[in-house]
Amino acid sequence: MNIEKDRVVSFHYVLRDAEGAEVERSGPDEPMLYLHGHEGIVPGLEAAMSGRAAGDRFTVTLSAEEGYGPRHADALQRIPMKAVMTRGKLKPGQVIAVNTEHGPRQVTVVKAGKFVVDVDVNHPLAGRALSFEVEIVDVREASAEEKAHRHAHGPGHHHH
Ligand code: ZN
Repeated sequence: MNIEKDRVVSFHYVLRDAEGAEVERSGPDEPMLYLHGHEGIVPGLEAAMSGRAAGDRFTVTLSAEEGYGPRHADALQRIPMKAVMTRGKLKPGQVIAVNTEHGPRQVTVVKAGKFVVDVDVNHPLAGRALSFEVEIVDVREASAEEKAHRHAHGPGHHHH
């Protein structure tokens, strides 16, 4: 079965920066899952997935625009400490998770106070060229529920 709109894709990946240093990879038994055609993954990677099938392996290099977008200079925000989901003392440069009205989001600490933290809300990978080494594990039709929700439902982590 080929990857097209409204099919659920699971895949393993290794994400590297422009210098070839590894940034992130999927867990050995935890392939990434997404619903194709609904911007569930970065646009350049989604485009490269179209038409592929289980077992395919490929590497795609993305510009910042095809990845997490450009870095914005005016992206400083002051956030109440109670919205911070990461535990422990915060250090400048640290990537933390914060709760927003759009769900959890990754931001970078600029300055941490007692009750508020100043953060850079650019995605940590914004403004960077990236490459994804991909292995497609499975492609299946989406359920009616997944299509209605516009995202994939994985084993054991349905989130509402
Ligand atoms: Zn759902």
